[in-house]
Amino acid sequence: MSIHRKSRYEVNIMKQAGNIVALVHCAMKEAVKEGITTKELDDIAYKIIKSNKADPTFLGYNGFPATICTSINEQVVHGIPSKDTVLKAGDIISIDIGATYKGFVGDSAWTYPVGEISDEKKMLLKATEESLFAGLEYMKSHERLESVAGAIEDTAKKYKLGIVRQYGGHGVGRVMHEDPFVFNYRTNNGLILQKGMTIAIEPMLNLGCDEVEVLEDDWTVVTADKRPSAHFEHTVHVSDDGPEILTKLL
Ligand code: MG
Ligand code: MG
Repeated sequence: MSIHRKSRYEVNIMKQAGNIVALVHCAMKEAVKEGITTKELDDIAYKIIKSNKADPTFLGYNGFPATICTSINEQVVHGIPSKDTVLKAGDIISIDIGATYKGFVGDSAWTYPVGEISDEKKMLLKATEESLFAGLEYMKSHERLESVAGAIEDTAKKYKLGIVRQYGGHGVGRVMHEDPFVFNYRTNNGLILQKGMTIAIEPMLNLGCDEVEVLEDDWTVVTADKRPSAHFEHTVHVSDDGPEILTKLL
């Protein structure tokens, strides 16, 4: 495993990349409404990233055909935007966004409600967001990565939610996926966090079981029981003073 620790200078560039991702999320929050297509959301995201002199990180990544990932209801991650996919009231949509600016990547996902949603979906969103911030608490020097994973696992268990096992967080920097991989549950990982590490933390929690499958498009991941799933992600710098969230507005 090789972990690339970043200098303050590099972290500051990552904050610029993260700011662009956050700008897109602000636009998504406004745009997500009954009747809009996921292709329209993708077009909005592309324009904002390009107008900020950045590039959409996901576009072309392993052949991914779009700027953002849009994953609705039972879709967990990696859903492909389409002009035929229209949002309807009661849906939840996870939007995952990556932007590369001056050679560094920001990566952040958020799950949004479309109009009024059911109480159990509200709980799922609240709990998954809570699990992200519970994990982030431990993103500081001398903590164990295992503590991040454990805090996410404990929050999921508190709300009796399934935890996606096959996907997780990751180091991020000059490329989107660096070491270390971050499970969203305890795995007896001995890694000690150090200043300069930049890691995307991204719990994916399900109203039902843990298990997921990949659809025939070879991208879209769905829950095996077709129950809803939520996804919240921030790119974070490990500092001596605590977690420094990079994917937020400057
Ligand atoms: Mg992401
Ligand atoms: Mg990620």
